[in-house]
Amino acid sequence: MFNSLSDRLQGTFDKLRGKGRLTEDDINVAMREIRLALLEADVNFKVVKRFVASCKERCMTSEVLDSLTPSQNVVRIVLEELTELLGGTESKLTMAQNRTPNVIMLVGLQGSGKTTACVKLAYLLRKQGRNPLLAACDVYRPAAADQLETLGKEIGVPVFRGDGQHPVQIAKDSVQEAVDKLCDVVIVDTAGRLQIDEFMMQEAVDIKSAVRPDQVLMVVDAMTGQDIVNVVTEFAERTDFDGVIMSKLDGDARGGGALSVREVTGKPIKFVSMGEKPSSLEVFHPDRMARRILG
Ligand code: GDP
Repeated sequence: MFNSLSDRLQGTFDKLRGKGRLTEDDINVAMREIRLALLEADVNFKVVKRFVASCKERCMTSEVLDSLTPSQNVVRIVLEELTELLGGTESKLTMAQNRTPNVIMLVGLQGSGKTTACVKLAYLLRKQGRNPLLAACDVYRPAAADQLETLGKEIGVPVFRGDGQHPVQIAKDSVQEAVDKLCDVVIVDTAGRLQIDEFMMQEAVDIKSAVRPDQVLMVVDAMTGQDIVNVVTEFAERTDFDGVIMSKLDGDARGGGALSVREVTGKPIKFVSMGEKPSSLEVFHPDRMARRILG
C-alpha cells in the first residue's frame, strides 16, 4: 500500500533537493504535485485541500526559503503534517482499571476483517498478559461463529457462542461467561452488512448500551476507496466508536482512504492489520507510517 504515493512524493522531494535555493514558485510547484499525488491516491479532496494549505503556509516563510537547507525543511514540514494527519501520536486502548472484565466491541461492514481482527486483538492482548474471551455476536453471517471458534482454538482463546440467542443476549451472557471463566477482557464480534443498513446499526447500538464497552473499535478495510469516508462518518455518528482498526494495509490499493479516516472522523487509528495471521495486528504509530510513506 502507498507505493505509488510514496514514489510520487519522493520524486517531488528529489527535484527540490536538486535545486539548492528554493523560490516561492518552486514551493508552489511542489505543493501542486503533492496535491495531485494525494488525490490520485484516493485521499478525500477536503482532506487534501486542508493538508496542502497547511504545508504551503508553513513552507512559504523566509525561515524556510532563506534557510541553508530549504528542501530538507520542506520535507520535514510535510512529514510533520502527515504525522499529524494520521493522528499525531499513538492512541492507546483505554480500558477502565476498576472493571473486570473489560469489554471491547468491534463494529464494521461485512468483509472488513472484523472477525479476524477480534482474534488478532485477542492474540495481542494475551501477549500483554491479559486473559481474553471472544464473543460471537454475528449471528447472521453463515459460519461467522464457527470461524471465530476455529480461530480462537488456534490461538488458545475461549469463544462464547450463544447459538439461537439474540445478539444482545449473547453479548450480555458473554460477560457473565468471562466472570465464570476468570477472563479479564471480552472482545465482542458484531454483525456487519455489505452496506450500511439501519437494522445492523441499531443492533450495534443496542449491544453497546447493553454491555457498555470500554472501547468500541471500528474495523475499516484500507482497500476501500473514497466511499470509506461515508461509511466511517455514518458509523461514527451512530456508534460513536473510540478508534479504528485499519485492516488489509498489506493490500495493493492506493491507500487514500486510510489517510483520510482520522481527519474525517476525528477518531484515531489504534491498530493496523497487515496480513491474515493472528499475529498480524500492530499498534499504530502515526510517525512511523508517515516516515514509511515519505520514504
Ligand atoms: P468480517 O466479515 O468483517 O468478519 O471479515 P473477516 O474477518 O472474515 O475477513 C474477511 C477476509 O479478509 C478474510 O479472508 C480475512 O482473512 C481477510 N483479512 C482480514 N484482515 C486482513 C488483513 O489485514 N490482510 C489481508 N491480506 N487479509 C485480511
